[in-house]
Amino acid sequence: MKWISDLIDLIFPRYCSVCGELLSPQERDICVSCLFSMPRIEKIHLEEIEKTFWGKAKIERATSYMYYKKGSPYNNLIHNLKYKNHPEVGERLAYTAATELAGKGFFNSIDLIVPLPLSKAKRRKRGYNQCDYIAAGISRATGIAIARDIVSRIKSNETQTHKNREERWKNVEGIFEVRKPSKAEGRHILLVDDILTTGATLQCCAAALQEAAGCKISIFTLGYTYNGI
Ligand SMILES: [Zn+2]
Repeated sequence: MKWISDLIDLIFPRYCSVCGELLSPQERDICVSCLFSMPRIEKIHLEEIEKTFWGKAKIERATSYMYYKKGSPYNNLIHNLKYKNHPEVGERLAYTAATELAGKGFFNSIDLIVPLPLSKAKRRKRGYNQCDYIAAGISRATGIAIARDIVSRIKSNETQTHKNREERWKNVEGIFEVRKPSKAEGRHILLVDDILTTGATLQCCAAALQEAAGCKISIFTLGYTYNGI
C-alpha cells in the first residue's frame, strides 16, 4: 500500500548511501542518478578479473558488479552491508546485478550458489554472513538454489589487509573443508563473496570444492579492487 510506504518515508526518511540525497519512495539504498553513474565492471574488464584466478584454481567465469576504489562514496553500499548491520543492502544489490548478468548468460549451466563461509567467530561477532545475503539476491533473480552445507571454514585467517600477495596465500591455505563432497560432484557452483582483492581466499575455497569429482566453479563478487586502487 503506497500511502503506508509514503508515511514511513515521512517518519523515517531514507537517504542515498552514495550522495546523501533524500530517496524517493521507489528508490532503495541508492538514488537513480548514483545508480546510473556507478563505476560498474564493464564487459571489457571481465578478462582482467578472470586473470586474477589464473593458475591457482580452474575458474569457469568470474565477474564483479562494481569497482571498489579507495575513497569512493560507492563503497558505502558495501560498508553498510559488512559493517553497519544492513545485510539487506547486499541482497538488493546482488539482485540488481544478477538481473543484469542473467541477460548476458553469466548464470548458464550454474547449478548451485555457495556463499563463501565465514569463520564461526566472525559470524558470531557480525551476527550474519554478508555472503548469505548476496547469494539470496542472486537466487531471487535467477531461481538457482543456495547450498550452505557443502563447505565450511575450519580456520579463521587473520586479517589480510596488511599482507602482500605471497603472505596472503600462505595465510589462507587449508582454511576450508568440504563437508558434503557428494553435493558438489559434477556440479557447476557459483561461489559468492563481497569484495574481490587478490582472490586468494576465494581460490582456496574453489580448490577445496574442486576435490569433488567434476565440480566446476564460477565466481561473483559485488566489489572489485585491484593493486594501486
Ligand atoms: Zn545518490
